[in-house]
This record gives sequence, C-alpha cells and structure tokens, in this order.
Amino acid sequence: MISGTDILQSAYDPERFRAVGHELIDMLADHLKSVQGREQQAIAYLPPGEQATFWQDDLINGAGSPAHFFQEILSRSVQVQHPRYMGHQVCPPAPLAALSSLVDGLLNNGMAVYEMGMSATAIEQQVLAVVSGRMGFGPNAGGVLTSGGTLANLTALLAARAVKSKRAIWTEGGHETRLALLVSEEAHYCVDRAVRIMGWGETGIIKIPVDDHYRMRHECLPEYLAHAKEEGLEVIAVVGSACSTSTGSFDDLNALADFCEAEGLWLHVDGAHGAALSLSPQYKAVVDGLERADSVAMDFHKMLLTPVLATALIFKNGPDSYRTFSQRAQYLWSGQTEQEWYNLAKRTFECTKLMMGMKVHALLRTYGFELWEAYLGKVMQNGALFADLVRAHPDFELAVEPACNIVCFRYVKPGADLNELNARIRQSLLEDGRFYIVQTQLKTGLFLRVTLTNPHTSGEDIEALLTLIASKAPELG
Ligand SMILES: *Cc1c(COP(=O)(O)O)cnc(C)c1O
Repeated sequence: MISGTDILQSAYDPERFRAVGHELIDMLADHLKSVQGREQQAIAYLPPGEQATFWQDDLINGAGSPAHFFQEILSRSVQVQHPRYMGHQVCPPAPLAALSSLVDGLLNNGMAVYEMGMSATAIEQQVLAVVSGRMGFGPNAGGVLTSGGTLANLTALLAARAVKSKRAIWTEGGHETRLALLVSEEAHYCVDRAVRIMGWGETGIIKIPVDDHYRMRHECLPEYLAHAKEEGLEVIAVVGSACSTSTGSFDDLNALADFCEAEGLWLHVDGAHGAALSLSPQYKAVVDGLERADSVAMDFHKMLLTPVLATALIFKNGPDSYRTFSQRAQYLWSGQTEQEWYNLAKRTFECTKLMMGMKVHALLRTYGFELWEAYLGKVMQNGALFADLVRAHPDFELAVEPACNIVCFRYVKPGADLNELNARIRQSLLEDGRFYIVQTQLKTGLFLRVTLTNPHTSGEDIEALLTLIASKAPELG
C-alpha cells in the first residue's frame, strides 16, 4: 500500500499511470491471445468462500503491484473471450470497445446534464439515430441509452403507462387504478419486476401460455384481454419477447402489433438479446414487425460486442421518451422538452451514467455495420451447427429447435432421472473448467443451455463439448 504525504500526487501521477497502463495493456493482450488460443480453461471455478478469503486477504494486505492484482483478477474470472465459453448471453467485447471503457473511466463525464458529457451526449443521440434507422424505424424515432435491458424495460413501461393509462398516475398516484400488461410466460423476470415496482401487483402481469416452440400463443390474447377487463383491470400494453431468455424463442411480433393496433395497446418489445438481428439484412426477418413496436429494448452487450452495460431504448415516436418521468399535462404544455434532447437525465432513471454510446460509436466508425453482420452471421450459424451436431448424436436431444444462438439440449439415457443427470453433468463441467455452459429449467425438464456468443467458437469446439459430456455422463448416473 502507498502512504505518506505524496499519496495524492502518486495516485494522480501521469507517468505512473503510463507505466502501469502499458503493463496492463500488454497483459490484457497476452491474456486475450492465450484465451483465444484455448491455452487456459474457460473457467477456473472457485467456490464463493475461497474467493472471499482470497480477496479479503488481498484487500487488507494489499500485497503486490497493481499488475499483480490485475493478473489475479484475470485468472480468477470466467473467460468470456474463450472460444469454449458458451454460457450466459454477454458477448466477448471487441477490444476496441473495451478500450473505450478505459477512456470513460478516466474522463468520468457523468452525462446527467449536457455540459457534463458534451461529446458523450451527442454521440449517444447519433448512435441511436443511426441504429434505430437501421432497425427500420422512421426519422421520428428516438430514445436513450440505459444501463441494461432491465432498466430499459422498466423505463419503456413507465412511458407506456404515461401514454396509455386513463389516469395521470405520475402525479396522482395509482390508487384505485388496476393496471396490467400481457406478456408471454417465458418472458424475462425483469418484466415481472417492473410491473411490481410500478405497484401493479401480481394481477398486473398476465402471462400468456407458449406453444411448443416457447413462443407466445398470440391467438390467446383476445381471450386474456377480455377476461382481464371483466376482472376490472385496465390493460395498457403487450410485451413481446425477442427473444425469450431460456430458449431464445421469438414471439410473432407482427401478430402482436396487429393486436395492439386493433385494441389501442402499447407494444413494447424486450429485444435485449435478439433485437440486434434487425441490424443484419440476412437475419432481420427473424424479428419482422419489430419496427411496429412503440418501444424496443436492445442490449449492445449481448449481441453487439460492447462491454456491459449498454442498452438502447428506442421509441417509435421519439417524444414518448420524454413522457417516462413527466406527467401528461406538463408534456403537452411544455414544447421545450423536445428541444432538450441534450439533457439526458430528464429521460433516464440514471442521473450520472456511463458514456456508453462511445463504445458503440467506436465500433461503428471503425468497422461499420459489417462487424455486427459478420458477428451475427457467425454466432447464428454456430447455433444451427450446434443443433445439427446434437441431432446427429444418439446420446443427446434438443429441447426445441433453436431460433438463434441459444440452444437447450440434454444428455439422454434410458431409465435415468434426466433432470438429476443433466444437473450433475453441468456441475461436473463447471468443475472441469474446459468449457463454460449453463442450465435452465423448462416445462419439459432441466436442460443444458448454451449461448454461442463467441465468434471464435468452432465446430471442433462444439464436437469436443459433446464428446466430453458423453464421456463423463456414464459415471454421473
Ligand atoms: C438479458 C435479458 C434481459 C436483461 O437485460 P440486462 O441487460 O441483463 O439488464 C432482459 N430481457 C431479456 C429477454 C434478456 O435476454
């Protein structure tokens, strides 16, 4: 630990920063190379207690240089940049976007008001304009970047409430108002949370059953809406999943849009994972109808190669974005809000926030949309390839035909308790560490789940995973 009278000088010393920084960049580049080359494990799993002891000691004793500290972090973390990382949905960020995070960290422009993030604010709005245009929205679209899809979904639903609810709940409170929305039973849990945070309670979320492909059975919507009305609920929105988190299933967005248009409901699309496909000419048909939504949430940190967190919340009618945190009357009365696109805190939950647009902008100006197209092409093909290899293997089965780079599958053995066996397989893979995959509980049982998020994952990697599971399984039950 550094102490003494020069502590402040030392902490801010540019030359010290330069020296540690160079060392760090070299270390990160070496790490990237070794991880990409599969020279280390995808995860060297340590139980929470062991990590806690180690870091407690490190914090108290502070032994070793900053480089040593960073090295420990690297080796004690899951390696998202590893081609055999196939776990949760976060992407291996493009290193250029990661470097942007460093600039963000040093500049620390908080962005709550224009002067506190002049470049970052203008960049954010430009990025949103370019991206929403590419998604198929018109020039009237607009929005904000938020820290994650969870927050984007809540923000969108607050705007939906301001626009659609009969009462001005923002000013009057929600007494006697029983609002609700319709959403697939497979939707991400954050939609349920948003509903409860808004005070709608458990009757506020009406779950529509899914079909065999885990897509919302949209033909059920009229019946559920009628029933809700009979119960005295004021339904204001439908939330579509593009895609669902567990199985990567896409709701039929055109069908949802038709229904919402006919019934005067708000359509929000939770496209945290899959809305990115709208940016690729090759795959945009998967999310056909997306541009008809009133609002869409799309994570850049899942399919668009940025570090966490960076999420676009786009409104088809841009000015709706100003409704989230303001009452209707104020909005109508004050024409000024529209001119204040540059004071972002008016429209986001966050006051201070990261300069997240910079990470997206850095990629777009350097590589154009081609980088994302290449990435999406690769990971979508890997999803299909994974499914092919599972289908071709006698010991495995798919939970459902995958619609994107999320694949649910399991090992099958006659007579075995498949839930228990597959849970053991996943635990054994975690301890093994050569691959990183997860598991999910579906209606038909517990399944292993992969997200093919790393563009360097090869067919050989996938085959090696299936071979490893098949070799481990017999001794696991
Ligand atoms: C990942 C995900 C979320 C949550 O987004 P965060 O960026 O992690 O907050 C919400 N909805 C869906 C469908 C997701 O896949």
